Amino acid sequence: MSIIDDIKSAAEVLRKADNIELYQKLLTAQKQALEIMEENRNLKEENRNLLKKIKIKGDMYLRNDAYWGSKDGKEEGPFCTRCLNVESIPVLLHQQGNPAYYQCPNCKSSIKARPELDQPIVAKKFNPFNNGYDL
Ligand SMILES: [Zn+2]
Repeated sequence: MSIIDDIKSAAEVLRKADNIELYQKLLTAQKQALEIMEENRNLKEENRNLLKKIKIKGDMYLRNDAYWGSKDGKEEGPFCTRCLNVESIPVLLHQQGNPAYYQCPNCKSSIKARPELDQPIVAKKFNPFNNGYDL
């Protein structure tokens, strides 16, 4: 039996006993109990979401200004540091033209997450003896 059922039972006894003053106080207590139960439910939901966010961030590591994770032994990422730090959502970055650079589809941050793949633009020089361009 819940606290609300107990209050209802007590209120019914008071109503039958014609104790209106105590009956009104019990109705007020019932309303407050319902508000506390609703607040408790909301706090539990908020706590569950916070724990989920902490777990997501706890499973990740920072490298080259991006978050990385792993799933089934395979590396996942890169994820946006701004979105995970500020909004607590893991947003997978999108690779740009240069494979070293990524952009967040959410906040549009641009990150050099894979510097090992950086392909600097190299000017080609015309070689008239080779009938074309050399590096
Ligand atoms: Zn972002």
